[in-house]
Amino acid sequence: ESRVADTWTRTTCGYCSVGCGMLIGTRDGEPVAARGNPDHPVNRGKLCPKGLSEHQVLRAPGRATTPMLRRGGRGTPLVPVSWEEALDVMVSRIGALQEAHGTDTLGVIGTGQLLTEEFYTLGKLVQLGFQSRNYDGNTTLCMASAVSGYKLSFGSDGPPGAYADLETADVVLLVGSNIADNHPILCNRLRSNPEQVLIVADPRVTKTAMLADIHLPVKPRSDIALLNGIAHILLRDGMIDRDYVDAHTEGFDDFVSFAADFTLQHVSDVTGLSVETIERVAHLYGNAKAAFIGWTMGVNHSTQGSVTVAAINNLAMLTGNIGRAGASPFSITGQCNAMGTRESGFASSLPGYRKFDSEHDREELAAIWEIPAHRLPTARGLAYPDIIEAAVAKRVTALWFIATNPVVSFPNFKLLQQALTTAEFVVVQDGFFPTPTADYADLVLPAAIWGEKEGTYTNSERRISKVNAFATPPGEARSDFDIFLTLAEKLGVKDVLYPGWSTTHDAWLEWQRVSAGRMCDYSSFTWQQIEENGGMQWGGERLYEDGIFPRENGRALFHCVPCLPFTEQPDSDFGLILNTGRTVEHWHTRTKTGAVPILNNMMPNAWLEMNPVDAERLQFRQHDRVNIVSRRSSVTNVELRITGIVAPGQVFMPFHFAEQNSNQVTLGAFDPISREPNFKQCAVRVERC
Ligand code: SF4
Repeated sequence: ESRVADTWTRTTCGYCSVGCGMLIGTRDGEPVAARGNPDHPVNRGKLCPKGLSEHQVLRAPGRATTPMLRRGGRGTPLVPVSWEEALDVMVSRIGALQEAHGTDTLGVIGTGQLLTEEFYTLGKLVQLGFQSRNYDGNTTLCMASAVSGYKLSFGSDGPPGAYADLETADVVLLVGSNIADNHPILCNRLRSNPEQVLIVADPRVTKTAMLADIHLPVKPRSDIALLNGIAHILLRDGMIDRDYVDAHTEGFDDFVSFAADFTLQHVSDVTGLSVETIERVAHLYGNAKAAFIGWTMGVNHSTQGSVTVAAINNLAMLTGNIGRAGASPFSITGQCNAMGTRESGFASSLPGYRKFDSEHDREELAAIWEIPAHRLPTARGLAYPDIIEAAVAKRVTALWFIATNPVVSFPNFKLLQQALTTAEFVVVQDGFFPTPTADYADLVLPAAIWGEKEGTYTNSERRISKVNAFATPPGEARSDFDIFLTLAEKLGVKDVLYPGWSTTHDAWLEWQRVSAGRMCDYSSFTWQQIEENGGMQWGGERLYEDGIFPRENGRALFHCVPCLPFTEQPDSDFGLILNTGRTVEHWHTRTKTGAVPILNNMMPNAWLEMNPVDAERLQFRQHDRVNIVSRRSSVTNVELRITGIVAPGQVFMPFHFAEQNSNQVTLGAFDPISREPNFKQCAVRVERC
């Protein structure tokens, strides 16, 4: 930036869950520069390319500036309308549909991009104001399986470790986790201990795999066999912490019998790894003083995601690698506020990790809110993919998407398109317009984004960080929080649900009371403390230091996790396995990063990676333009990159690009527990354009 800032504001990055602290420079109220905050404990002054250019998002072209309505109905253009008309139409259209079909006919998809205070406010609005249970976050597309897996093993969500563990562990095993691209600043935490051994299990030779001491190029979805095979060796060779197992776990005997079947040869056959490599990795993990297992979407994006997390937790429990410095089974989350939404929302649990089916929890919440307990739902509503399927089946007739762009991010686009066109009323609330999803909207609400509103995010290590406003929203755009409160007013519930509220700090104060005494207790921190300390971790630096888990008997539970073949195996028509993922330059569906020239110029288009063996067999040449075809649809005109980064029989494509949308071909298969999609494996063929 050539212009010099006259003011610097502390805030937290609004992209990924690393949660880097930053300083934003403004001149005459306009954002002109971004720097890493040198005093911040997470990133110590560093930022990745997205963070360094984040201030440019605010004044990028394509911001949504006015409410827009299809006044003449579907097939007519969206036209600017006043906020008054927009929100009146929204309340009356949804009200009419609820009158006809019941209150659950409204499906709402929130996002890990909202502030915790906003997500908390939205949960109350949907569940108690609109009275629909069908509410979920786009976080179900990225880390719902981590939540379910933690609940299976430990009885509650909550990543037990801290980023500092990446430095202190003497063995770090990353499973399906390409942090060099997706959480780049976390990579700086690796290897500060020169003795540390980094092991990366990934079918693809990712940038992270290139950093590893040992790369395990496992066959797609064979991570469960690898984890069970490591357990087998730990048990066989006595590399377990029997005292820890006896004192703090249950289900051990059944697990021992189960793991006996995962012989080295069997695991080698399933994973494609040599027997020697599996032995070596198991011994490194088993002999570590402190071992850390981190995972991201390679694990979560699977129909077996939740139980794969449980299989990871099994290893930590067997060896007592939990609740100590350097020792943790650790879900590296996705979005900047994935954790805050997990804790405060109404989606997979009631606020404060309370259970829908617990009378005690419901009564406790109702008492805080001074409402009758019977007004609280006793079971969660439909999860994101089930809301989409219900829209296709006309059981959900109104859809409200908030700061998310499912046309690019949801699997099996054709199914989604059917839902969007079948639903009778679709609202898209976003900071940008047009977006691919807004094409299907009956009503568009322009929202303020990061940098234009104040509150908190919580990162992967449970660190609550302050987010500050330093710019004004463009045009008539309003904060999501303001939109929610105005809707509450129009529904006549503002005084009951949000008595006296006018700012996100009011929501924070209530959320503190709601979380008090819970595992995710925010009650002892003020916004000022959080900002001055570079964030505060709820639950302290690590969870479960005392070995007591939030299950009825206080013990963590071993799970016997079978390794099942994935849903859509390659065959003679569709002979390649497509894996999808991300790249460092872009954030999710490129709504923001596609509008930042430096990022978009670095990576303007999608590509497809193919192994030279397959390229030769299929007679492709480097940089051919190709179509990727699955049973569902095709992605056309994609640049082919022939590279050993992917193994024979597999291809890889990033998912960010609307124009070359990988989710045209991905599979609509979901984890039965978490409902997270299986983005990582589907069968395709590749054709020359
Ligand atoms: Fe932002 Fe994540 Fe990059 Fe840090 S690593 S600057 S949080 S995108």
